[in-house]
Order: sequence, then structure tokens, then C-alpha cells
Amino acid sequence: MERNFFEEDHDLFREVAREFNNREIAPKYADWDRNHMMPRSMWTAAGEQGLLGLAVPEDFGGMGMTDYRFRAVMDEEFARSNHLAVGLALHLHDDMVLPHLLAYGSDELKERWLPPMVSGEKVTSVAWTEPGAGSDLRGVRTKAVREGDDYLISGQKTFIGNGISGDASLVLARTDGSTGRGSAKSFSLFMVEKAEGYSTGKQLDKMGLKASDTAELFFDNVRVPASNLVGEEGNGLRYVTEQLPQGRLAIAVASSAVARAVFDATVTYTKERNAFGERVVDFQNSRFALADIRTEVEVTESYVDQAMLAFNEGKLDAASASQAKLWASERVKSITDRCLQLHGGYGYILEYPVAQAYLASRLLTIFGGTSEIMRETIGRDIAR
Ligand SMILES: Cc1cc2nc3c(=O)[nH]c(=O)nc-3n(C[C@H](O)[C@H](O)[C@H](O)COP(=O)(O)OP(=O)(O)OC[C@H]3O[C@@H](n4cnc5c(N)ncnc54)[C@H](O)[C@@H]3O)c2cc1C
Repeated sequence: MERNFFEEDHDLFREVAREFNNREIAPKYADWDRNHMMPRSMWTAAGEQGLLGLAVPEDFGGMGMTDYRFRAVMDEEFARSNHLAVGLALHLHDDMVLPHLLAYGSDELKERWLPPMVSGEKVTSVAWTEPGAGSDLRGVRTKAVREGDDYLISGQKTFIGNGISGDASLVLARTDGSTGRGSAKSFSLFMVEKAEGYSTGKQLDKMGLKASDTAELFFDNVRVPASNLVGEEGNGLRYVTEQLPQGRLAIAVASSAVARAVFDATVTYTKERNAFGERVVDFQNSRFALADIRTEVEVTESYVDQAMLAFNEGKLDAASASQAKLWASERVKSITDRCLQLHGGYGYILEYPVAQAYLASRLLTIFGGTSEIMRETIGRDIAR
């Protein structure tokens, strides 16, 4: 079925994103993958090309492109070229940190952070998860204690993407002095820059997406000016909840893009590979498998496209975004597995995009909320 979703501006933007991929990422990606890190030059080049902070208003150095289809174009290009770790790194900066600053940040915070985030001079991370609290953020123990015009932040975070390479993190911390499981009003959000007392732990050795760094963060009485509080004290969890739709939509979009890219690569592969005197695609089993996969890819695209349009209109609620993430991330997990099988032994070799996509996509049902948490959110909405 023809996908009638993008317009001329998106197509032009796709050319820019594709050219950027070919010029700035493709020749270097293998090195980044080996080093478990991408250099700052990737960010500044992306900034120069106008690929960062698309939604930032012009007053703050951005282009005010709030149509999410432009972000989708980028995800599709990263998936097509198999630069999935770049997609992850940008997701944290653009889909997670940025929306919170745009929605709740003071003018001072916006002036200080948005222009360098758009140019790539400052790279950010989002630090919700802790060793003892992931799905249940009310278990966050990192605390922020007010002292005069500052807060002192202490605690530990884990699994933080861009944690080593980034300059600052949007940190969820407890501000009401409570212990045990906090209340809805126990937490606040802070922009925390690398400073005395802020250290990063070892690089976590992930099974995929290796070109993006992921680390533990440690805060030992890090002094943060009160002006770095995002929005109001005690509203951190409310803000995180309100911004869930974008984060979950983003993962759904990436999942759908990876599913499409892997399907296309598998069709090409099975047409080139021969066994028993036939192309692999000519076996009935292969054609049936590919028929199922193409159907799933297109159903997923249609559904995620609708979610994107709803988001553009400000109408994507948390349950619908969770459904999109649940559906698309579970689909891509299964699709990459079946596509890998159709590659035979080569599917297991990392040089082949399907192997990398298989490892990368395994994250998509876990981070940004697990599939079980998606089902909880959707189930609660049904039972209301
Ligand atoms: C590579 C990677 C990158 C990440 N990047 C970031 C990042 O940049 N910033 C950040 O803050 N976090 C990040 N995360 C953390 C990620 O969001 C969490 O791992 C995820 O939310 C799950 O939390 P957890 O690992 O503590 O699992 P847990 O919460 O311990 O869950 C363990 C299992 O229990 C299930 N479970 C939990 N609660 C329920 C329930 N109520 N009902 C049913 N089942 C339940 C879960 O679904 C899961 O299967 C990243 C994680 C990874 C692996």
C-alpha cells in the first residue's frame, strides 16, 4: 500500500538528513561503535545542518518545526543507514530533555540551554533511572536539598545515555525529604551541569547501540543554582508524566522505521542469495514469512503515522502513545528475529545490518518504559 504521509518539505528535509548521514556518519560510525562513543563533532555538524532541536522556537536559535514528521524522517534515515545509536543519542537530547525545557523551563533556562542544544555545543542526557528505581520512579532516592540560593544534589543514576559524552543532565530528584516510596509531589526536575561532585561511572557495555555511551552518574553534594530548577518544586513527576506521549511516540516511530529498514534489507538479501538452485525468496516459506512481515510493517506504519498526526494536533494521550510504543516495539522485536532467520548464518554476523538491528531493537521494549508498564498504562485507561 502506498504510504501517503509525507509532503514536499519532508522530502526535502530527507535529502538533507540523508546527505548528512552519508557525509558525517557513515565513514566514522564503525570507529564510534568500537570506541562506544561518538565525538562532539557529530553533534556540532548535526547542529550546523539544522538537525538538532527542531521544535525550538526561532527566538532561541531553532526553527520552530513542531511537525513531528520531520523527526520521523530523521529516524527513518538513521534506520535505513543502520546508524541506530545516533538516533538513540539524539532521541534523549531532542525528545526527552528538550520538551521539558520548552514546556516548563524559565526564560533564563531556555536562553541558557536551548541555543547551545540546537547548535550541538551542549549535549544533554536525561537521568530518571537509578539502580533501585526504573519502572517505579517514586522509588527515586537522589535528593536535592535547598541551601540558600542553591540546591545540593546527592545520589546515583544508571543507564544514562549521553552520560559520559554529555555536558548536563535533566535529573529527577526528591525534594520533600521523604524516604521510602515518594508521593506524587516528592520530586522535582533540575538541569545539572558537570561540576564538582558530579562524576560518571564506567561505560556500560551494552549488547547493541554501542556507538552511544551509557553510564552511571554519581552526584556528591553537587551545587546547583535554584534557577536550574525546571518549573516548580514538587512537580517533577507531573512533568515527566505529561511529557510521556512524546518519548513513547518517538520510540514507536524509531521501531517502525527499523522494522521497515530491516524488511527492505531482507527482501534484497533473499533475492540475492541462492540455495538448492533457487533464490531464497522463491521458497514458499520465505515468501510467506515476508508476506507476514510486510503486512506487519505496513500496519505498524499506518498506526504510528496516525499517532504522529494526533501528536501534531496536541491530541496524543499517554495511553494512546503507550499503545503505539507497545505495538511497534514488540513488532520490531519479532520482525528483526524473523528477518535474521531469513539471512541464515550471515544474519548472525555483525557486519550485516540485520544483526545490528536485532541487537538494537531489543532495547525498544525496555527503555522509555517496558512493555509491561505500557500495558499497565493502557489497562488503567480501560478500567477508568
Ligand atoms: C540501553 C539503555 C538506555 C537507557 N537510557 C536511559 C536514559 O538515558 N535515562 C534514564 O533515565 N533511563 C534510561 N534507561 C533505563 C530504562 O528506562 C529502564 O531500564 C526501564 O524503564 C526499566 O526499568 P528497570 O531497568 O529498573 O526495570 P525494573 O523496573 O526493575 O523492571 C524489571 C521487570 O519487572 C517488570 N515490572 C516492573 N514493574 C511492573 C509492574 N507494575 N507490572 C508488571 N511488570 C512490572 C518490568 O516490565 C521488567 O520486566 C535505559 C536503559 C537501557 C537498558
